[in-house]
Amino acid sequence: SGGAKEADAAGSNGSERGPPGHSMLAPFTSGTQQSDFHPLVIVRSEGVYVVDSEGKKYMDALAGLWSTALGGNEKRLVDAATRQLNLLPFYHSFWNRTTDPALKLAEELVDMFKPVKMAKVFFTNSGSEANDTQVKLVWYYNNHRGMPKKKKFIAREKAYHGSTLVTATLSGLPNLQKGFDLPEAFPYVLRAECPHYWRNHRPGESEEDYATRLADDLEKLILREDPETVAAFIAEPVMGAGGVMPPPATYFDKVQAVLKKYDILLIADEVVCAFGRLGAMFGCEKYNIKPDLVSLAKAITSAYAPLGAVLVSQKIWDEISAHSDKLGQFGHGFTYSGHPVSCAVALEAIRIYKEKKIDQYVAKVGPVWQEGMRAFEKSPIIAEIRGTGLIMAVEFGDKDPKKPFPGAWGTGAYFAAECAKQGLLVRVSGDIIMMSPILVVTEDELQEFIRMFGEALKITENHVKELQAS
Ligand code: PMP
Repeated sequence: SGGAKEADAAGSNGSERGPPGHSMLAPFTSGTQQSDFHPLVIVRSEGVYVVDSEGKKYMDALAGLWSTALGGNEKRLVDAATRQLNLLPFYHSFWNRTTDPALKLAEELVDMFKPVKMAKVFFTNSGSEANDTQVKLVWYYNNHRGMPKKKKFIAREKAYHGSTLVTATLSGLPNLQKGFDLPEAFPYVLRAECPHYWRNHRPGESEEDYATRLADDLEKLILREDPETVAAFIAEPVMGAGGVMPPPATYFDKVQAVLKKYDILLIADEVVCAFGRLGAMFGCEKYNIKPDLVSLAKAITSAYAPLGAVLVSQKIWDEISAHSDKLGQFGHGFTYSGHPVSCAVALEAIRIYKEKKIDQYVAKVGPVWQEGMRAFEKSPIIAEIRGTGLIMAVEFGDKDPKKPFPGAWGTGAYFAAECAKQGLLVRVSGDIIMMSPILVVTEDELQEFIRMFGEALKITENHVKELQAS
């Protein structure tokens, strides 16, 4: 269909250079997309902009992959990496050997996470590895305390927790599981409803009532499965890649009460939310979440170097360390756990976030952008606009969530292509447009963002009108 073709072309820059195709097996890219269309090759970045191989400049509406928080050319991060590369490009962290940047960063993260007392930090290279580590840590913890049956995880529909075998199973997105024998291959994941009020509430149900129902459903699920077998609940404070869903009012209060009742751990996946994105330093601060474990990645280095981290609370560490002779060493780690260059970059990124009071800055400019964009909610082709701070999704369709546009229309992909023509690079997933600009974006840049979005919207409205008429 035309829609599918549009969707496949959406990532390319549509130029006519040479034969398409390349030797890279591209992540989250279809076969036709990689063989029949030129990739969009980004060669340079500057603040909120990226520049492609043909010199075209785009405002990067997603900050890389919700990651380049400080924008495209923060020299202090480059200098921090260079200094570390000159001094000690690599040493590992196995067997109680380690490096200064890793130790300093662990201390900094324990110190800056305020919602609960953290004790330890385990470093990984990515968010997926952080969440994979969470699963092993939770099992290790329960095995230590003599509860080896307590193994199951509850994750939500439309969650994104990574794409390794286990984290793709935690994720509630079919495109991560299709073709890989998932979710059956890792049978320890139970599924809770995606807390999306607009899509899932019943007639007359308030946000608070909806949250109560979800917490009741959660409790029923735990009882049905046997609480003795349920180990942890994992959640993004604001769900990201599944379509940007901020939690309904009172949701986390009610969920946490249920988890506590049944001795079930809470893992906060802050990979997208941490370091200011929501207008608070952590999503847990914003929603009063008291997690036992936290996953970090992305903005931890402003994406200038790969790094993920697991924050381990005092509660978990006290238990593990008290019985550490029982299971022997913590037999888990990566060559690059605590890579000194990544840790040095992260320390500098965090220094900059603190100097700029990045959480307060986002709390100031976020609402300007959110309100400006919400003016588009009256568009006849926009179903819902949702978000907070500097994260947002715009969903195309009828105002009634039960009446999406036909997939064959390819409305989202058409709109994304129009945005690219305007010079705005958005993320598209079906008919959902997802956006998370850099955190140091200026108000003028946000106004320009809104203008380009509006231009592409007008053209898309006409396109949809024609489709509806035909
Ligand atoms: N958790 C969340 C909430 C994410 O958004 C992502 C990536 N988008 C991950 C985990 C996985 O991170 P990575 O791609 O670094 O493995």
